[in-house]
Formats: sequence, C-alpha cells, structure tokens
Amino acid sequence: MAMKRGDAFVGKELPEEVKKTIPRVYVDDLLISLKYYVDEEQSHLWIKEPETCNRCQYKPCLSFCPVGVYTLDNEGKIQVAYQACVECGSCRVACPYNNIGWKLPRGGFGVAYKFG
Ligand code: SF4
Ligand code: SF4
Repeated sequence: MAMKRGDAFVGKELPEEVKKTIPRVYVDDLLISLKYYVDEEQSHLWIKEPETCNRCQYKPCLSFCPVGVYTLDNEGKIQVAYQACVECGSCRVACPYNNIGWKLPRGGFGVAYKFG
C-alpha cells in the first residue's frame, strides 16, 4: 500500500546488490567547497506547527537532512539551524506531516555552489 502523508515513517534497508552500486560520498569533503551567504534576519525554513512534531514518532528530519539542520533540544523540541542549509529540498517532501515551511533564501543569500 502506498504511504500517505501522516503515516508513520518506516525506514527500510536497501538490498545489498543495490548498496554496492551506490558510490561512496563523503559529505564533509563536498561541504568545504560551498560558500554561505547567511541571512541573519530571516529564516527560509520553519516548523509550521511545533505540536505536530510532538506526535511525530520517528522524527525523520533528524536523519534525512544531509547537513543536520534539524536537531532536538533539551526539551525535545525540533530546532532549525537554517544557516547550514544547502537547499537540497529534501525536507519539502520527506517530512511525513508536511510540517516544514521552505522557501528559497532572499536574493543575495543562501548557499553558493562552486561547480554549479
Ligand atoms: S519536522 Fe516533520 S519530520 Fe521533523 S519532527 Fe516535525 S513532523 Fe516530524
Ligand atoms: S533543504 Fe536540504 S539541507 Fe536544507 S534543511 Fe532541508 S533537508 Fe536540510
């Protein structure tokens, strides 16, 4: 059955034959080639309803963001370190409750890619 928004997130291991075809990528090596123009006044990411995160059992945002923008604070609330965002767009589709607001950073701000 197809997964609907709001369904519990169920992580699945990839089969070994598929894993072997995926090249190893070291994200840290890629990140050092990026340049950030941080907008200190306005975040382009936000949690729409913090209460929704409380009932999100697996909190996949803690895993799917390649640069760890989403973390849990001491009170169990999701924190958003938008300054580190590389604008991959994963959180627009991977939050099971569509609870992450996302827009492009304002003009002149955001991440700059050296090779693209
Ligand atoms: S942002 Fe989305 S994935 Fe993360 S805890 Fe909240 S509802 Fe869950
Ligand atoms: S767009 Fe990508 S890098 Fe930015 S917060 Fe979402 S998942 Fe993380």
